[in-house]
Amino acid sequence: MADVVSPIDARVLTRVAPASPAEVDAAVRAARAAQPAWARRTGSDRGRILHAVADLIEARVEELAETETRNTGKILSDTRREVRRAAGSFRYYAGWADQVRGETIPVGPEYHTYTVPEPHGVVAGVIPWNVPFFFAAKKIAPALAFGNACVLKPAEETPLTALRLGELLAEAGVPDGLVRVLPGGRETGAALVSHPDVDLIVFTGHHDTGKAIARSAAANLTPVALELGGKSPQVLFPDADLDRAVDAVVLGVFASCGQMCIAGSRLVLHESIYDEVLDRVAERVRSLRVGDPFDEQTDLGPQITAAQRDKTVEFIAESTAAGRLVAQATLPDDERLRNGFYVPPTVFDRLDDDARLLREEVFGPVLAVSSFRDDAEALRLANDTEFGLAAGVWTADIARAHRFAGQVRAGTVWINTYRVLSDLVPFGGVGLSGYGRENGTEAARLYLRPRSVWTSLTSGTPQGYGMGGAGAAG
Ligand code: NAD
Repeated sequence: MADVVSPIDARVLTRVAPASPAEVDAAVRAARAAQPAWARRTGSDRGRILHAVADLIEARVEELAETETRNTGKILSDTRREVRRAAGSFRYYAGWADQVRGETIPVGPEYHTYTVPEPHGVVAGVIPWNVPFFFAAKKIAPALAFGNACVLKPAEETPLTALRLGELLAEAGVPDGLVRVLPGGRETGAALVSHPDVDLIVFTGHHDTGKAIARSAAANLTPVALELGGKSPQVLFPDADLDRAVDAVVLGVFASCGQMCIAGSRLVLHESIYDEVLDRVAERVRSLRVGDPFDEQTDLGPQITAAQRDKTVEFIAESTAAGRLVAQATLPDDERLRNGFYVPPTVFDRLDDDARLLREEVFGPVLAVSSFRDDAEALRLANDTEFGLAAGVWTADIARAHRFAGQVRAGTVWINTYRVLSDLVPFGGVGLSGYGRENGTEAARLYLRPRSVWTSLTSGTPQGYGMGGAGAAG
């Protein structure tokens, strides 16, 4: 049994038994057995059930958000938004369910050729601890909409709301066995992704885990999509709207206590606005309230685990020696929170280009600031990372903004905004941030694969080459 701990005060909330390899196997088999009948249902029918899931979630926003806040330590306004977004994902993919269509391809008069998008079969979803309920929805909803089964493994630190989602799915009429939520850690995850009967792996988490999963997927040639971490830059040019930019910089790295894959953890400032922006960011950071995430006045709760807190504290100690500590918030002095995993939001500058804080993902509330002279240097600094998840650029010059957006190495670029995401818009990374895209039309590409069907319209023997683009091969 594994303790599920609240990071607010280190209290054990409950104990959950990790799924054994035999239970993983049983879940995959059950999913395999249930999937064909699900895929044969009409899209409208699948969509109706996904809407029913959304209804059940929307009727329980408060319950789910409170459980999520207790388990993750994230402030209530954030977890409420995430729960609503999860319901939104079920509605969005419910809308997709009866919109799937293939294409007819006019290869020549002798053939009627068309594609039929078909589900992969059993999808294995593995998710991290930072956004448990929403990520569970983000994997399960498209899997089901497009006719797949899904076995989902939440992080062992934060399984509670994903397990609850499993109950809500059953209540909404999702057939028995079609979806299983399996608690557990690395071993459960490894058993799941290496299972030969899994047809698609969708993973969100750390790049080292992503590499391990890609290696294990290769053994079975299982397709895999990897949503990994980042070290995303926010670049501010002198003509930017600094009020909005400073807000977005602060929220972009300190919200969720920095535990966001898209955290804008590197601030890259033009030298002419460096002192002014740094002062404004510093002032905001010193005023951030770290504390009980159930308190409406709190800006940031604790980090999710003691290990994550220790990792962030180590980054802060190392960067204090390597650079200049510009600003730091204070820790809560509330006796009730004494054992919680709190860290102070902190800003550093004057770091060498190869400083660990500029290179590695902290996944905590720590911002590294650097300066540039011209556009070329801004781009060089923005791209000076192995990651490529997201980037923000702030400028009133539209040509400069689009030039930058075209050259920065990132899966998502925000111009004069940051951290906005939608089910409709493709999301994913490049480099160490992973490969594959989720959301929107890309979700249909990920969760479906086309079957090509050729029909002869003549009675003669196929002739092969030279028929209007169609030819024998293979
Ligand atoms: P993690 O990689 O340690 O764990 C993620 C999940 O993988 C957990 O469920 C874990 O139990 C499981 N796992 C661990 N080893 C496994 C293995 N060998 N085989 C199969 N499953 C295994 O990540 P984390 O620490 O929980 O989350 C933080 C990381 O997630 C950060 O790097 C963050 O940037 C990333 N992240 C990325 C996105 C994105 O969309 N790109 C979103 C959120 C978080």
